Amino acid sequence: MKLKALIIESTRHYRSVLDKILSDIGVECDIFENAEEALKSTTKAEYAFILVSRYLDDTTGELFLHRYREKYVLGEALTIMLTSGEVSSVMMDANNAGFKLVFNKKELDSIQTFLTSVLNNRTLNLKGKILFIEDQKSVAAATIAIFKNYQADIDHVVSFVDAKEKFSNNFYDLVITDYHLENEETGDDIIQLVRGYADVDKALIPILVVSGEADQKKRTSFLRNGANDFIIKPYDDDELIVRSSNLIQNKRIFEQAKKQQKELTRLAMTDQLTGLYNRHSLFDIGPKYLSDAIRHKFSVSLLVIDLDHFKKINDTHGHGAGDNVLKAVGQVLNDNCRPEDFVARYGGEEFVMILTHCDIDFTLRKAENIRLAIEESKPNNLMMTASIGAAALNKKDDFESLFEKADRAVYEAKDSGRNRVVIHPDKFDSVV
Ligand code: GH3
Ligand code: MG
Ligand code: MG
Ligand code: MG
Repeated sequence: MKLKALIIESTRHYRSVLDKILSDIGVECDIFENAEEALKSTTKAEYAFILVSRYLDDTTGELFLHRYREKYVLGEALTIMLTSGEVSSVMMDANNAGFKLVFNKKELDSIQTFLTSVLNNRTLNLKGKILFIEDQKSVAAATIAIFKNYQADIDHVVSFVDAKEKFSNNFYDLVITDYHLENEETGDDIIQLVRGYADVDKALIPILVVSGEADQKKRTSFLRNGANDFIIKPYDDDELIVRSSNLIQNKRIFEQAKKQQKELTRLAMTDQLTGLYNRHSLFDIGPKYLSDAIRHKFSVSLLVIDLDHFKKINDTHGHGAGDNVLKAVGQVLNDNCRPEDFVARYGGEEFVMILTHCDIDFTLRKAENIRLAIEESKPNNLMMTASIGAAALNKKDDFESLFEKADRAVYEAKDSGRNRVVIHPDKFDSVV
């Protein structure tokens, strides 16, 4: 049976582009111009893929999916939002609305590659590592033989204790467990073992329970306890394979989405030019340094570093040279801090450092070293200096007030001749 996709997209050209991509990989498409039409015409949820544009003529992709879910169960459908804007700015809303992935409309190559890889998984290729717990030798042998036909890498054990040992030493894509096991343990113990794992990636590994249990209530309880699926013994080979394959495939999609999310988070936190944290991260992460310091009673200080007459570099040597200087200074700052410190580029030629376990004297020495390191670094073979304002955390400070003190100090450093360190004169009332 052919897999189907639901596509909702307002422009004719892009509709035919998507149709071509999906048809090329053997997926049949139901294509609609707007949400109203799609909701009127689709009869039941039978789609492997649902691709929706962020903006439709009559609503948004988010609202469409919301209404679709009121009418139908999404089931196995992989929901994808397509946006012409930046993926990172849409991701959060899309996820909240129930989209698993977001792609930029222009990145046709990645859309095609991704759909193809998902489809390859759909074709019952059980490439993955499976932990199989079954105490009946004859059942186990038959099942292992089936899986070997599909290139699965399968570890078979007969008891909970062996399963525990294997699970801790390996990373599986699927756990298949019989319900009644050797000794006292059951499939519920296996579910608890997996779901209770401290390593989140391991705790989320899909579980398929195999059971001769005829009682409906009991079977539902497997799912409630954290299994992803179950299959009744004696089972049909095909059913076992299809259910296993679905679980492995969903895991791969989840991993892909997680990877995308992680990369987006990293991008959103990083300054593109220098690779340092950006302004957004400073105000997000900075306050955490302060609360940690107050809770654990250690000192923290903050430096605002503003390059001197930086505008002249741009004016004299061009914007490209200016960018190189910024990159080089970013590197100097990075080289001059410890892993537990924090460095951000928070404005054009302004940087911030948060230094932990730094009392007032140490902060001054450190700031002075940084000032000197910048002066000596001759970024892009140009002379460059910086004015540095420093402030140490006092009991009454919050992040804003600490930042403001350092910022005022930097102005004073500018006023009194630049290329120097000024510490804010606030009476030092340490948190330590
Ligand atoms: P001061 O010593 O008083 O700090 O003078 P300044 O020239 O360093 O400071 P001002 O704020 O007058 O100028 C900062 C300049 O930084 C102006 C702006 O064009 C430039 N700038 C901001 N962001 C970037 C960037 O990403 N790349 C480059 N090349 N220049 C930038
Ligand atoms: Mg058994
Ligand atoms: Mg400035
Ligand atoms: Mg400046």
